[in-house]
Amino acid sequence: MVLRVYNTLSRSVEGFEPVRGKRVRMFVCGPTVYDFSHVGHARTYLAYDIIARYLRARGYSVFYIVNITDIDDKIINRANASGEDPLLLADKFTKDFFRDMEALGITSVNLYAKASEHVPEIIDQITTLIGNGHAYQVDGDVYFDVSKFPEYGKLSRQNIEQLSVHRIDPDSRKRNVVDFALWKSQKPGEPAWDSPWGKGRPGWHIEDTAITTTYFGPQYDIHGGGLDLVFPHHEAEIAQAEAATGVKPLVRYWLHGGLLNIAGERMGKSIGNFVTIQDLLKRHDPEALRLYYAMRHYRTQLEFDEGGVAQAEEVLDKLRSVYNQFKSLLEGSDTTDEKSVDEDIKRLTTVAMEGFVVAMDDDFNTPRALATMITYAKDIEPYANRKLGEQSLGLIVRTFDYFGEVFGILRPLNVRQGKTFEQLLGVVLQIREDARKRGDWKTSDAIRDHLKSIGIGLEDTSRGARWYLASAKS
Ligand code: AMP
Repeated sequence: MVLRVYNTLSRSVEGFEPVRGKRVRMFVCGPTVYDFSHVGHARTYLAYDIIARYLRARGYSVFYIVNITDIDDKIINRANASGEDPLLLADKFTKDFFRDMEALGITSVNLYAKASEHVPEIIDQITTLIGNGHAYQVDGDVYFDVSKFPEYGKLSRQNIEQLSVHRIDPDSRKRNVVDFALWKSQKPGEPAWDSPWGKGRPGWHIEDTAITTTYFGPQYDIHGGGLDLVFPHHEAEIAQAEAATGVKPLVRYWLHGGLLNIAGERMGKSIGNFVTIQDLLKRHDPEALRLYYAMRHYRTQLEFDEGGVAQAEEVLDKLRSVYNQFKSLLEGSDTTDEKSVDEDIKRLTTVAMEGFVVAMDDDFNTPRALATMITYAKDIEPYANRKLGEQSLGLIVRTFDYFGEVFGILRPLNVRQGKTFEQLLGVVLQIREDARKRGDWKTSDAIRDHLKSIGIGLEDTSRGARWYLASAKS
């Protein structure tokens, strides 16, 4: 059986063949950390978490990197508006993001790479591009010269002429209107690093290619992100990296996830129409959110519906209950004399495993794979009363474990206790909020100080108190 994936570059489903046999190098664009992560981000990162989990379950060795855009115009603007230091603001939201990923059970990422920790690599790549004529300096800024890369537009299927007509750009110093910034000179109040072009900071696109070239080399297997990033971000990545290294294609398979909408519009930090991951997890089990998204194919557009998450929670309860029944039967089993696995169990399990793999091999078709798992649970449940032996029970439990591992569900309570911690903290914050409403500042301040003493910082915002794991800096 062959795993097949939809590649945005070819606009077709292709057989999956990594550059180096069973080794898969995978990169997904991480968040720009100037606000809380929302359930749209959760959809994207859960989709790639399942993809990485499935690849590993299928025997691939996956090196998975997510970057953190912690240097960016939006961060600087937000920090200037609130009078904060941009790097500290980014640091706080980066910690929030990690906390969200942990709460969602996103355990597949090997490395979160911050842009601010890769500035020397970024400067190196820009230097190479200037050296080979693909980039030019104007005052303290550096731009990529799109006219020197005729294939620009190959991912989004646009040509340079079309783009030049439609894009209005006020910067008359650029050679072509579509040229994009690799390095931006420092403006007052902005964070800056030394470079051959003076003090400044990297442009957005170059962060990712400097990071992937550092860890993966000039070519790798999977690049993911939401559909909104195809142009200009991923187009620019291809141009920069292929121009810098001369190796084509930069990425074998471009995988783009469908966006999450709310009231018909894309959920977005910049639009402000979002539900944060933290808010949603106060009301729902993280595994329910995982199932809710897995019920749709990752490339479809989806209108967010919290009622759907509640329904997924019911499905989750059912799956947990069947799984737990067999788990406790296996733990309490004293029937070691079973010679071989019960024929019915063998048949049902084989059908389920095959159905699951066929579905996931078809461009990670999670809705079909999940339907297979649900059917298996229904078919197998009656056997809980039939005195199965250890071998049969063991096969059932291992099969659930396999499905659960791919979807990131059915995790034992001690692994999910992060949620209990959040709930407990929610109770404490509610008590503090009540005290504040009564004007009982003594209690409110005491709670803040106690939390601080155990490394939990609080910040009162218009949306209520938000907490973060306090570092020495903050
Ligand atoms: P950002 O922080 O906006 O740069 O986004 C980080 C990642 O989340 C990117 O891969 C985006 O494509 C993805 N993303 C942002 N908004 C949504 C959304 N509404 N639905 C799905 N993915 C999203």
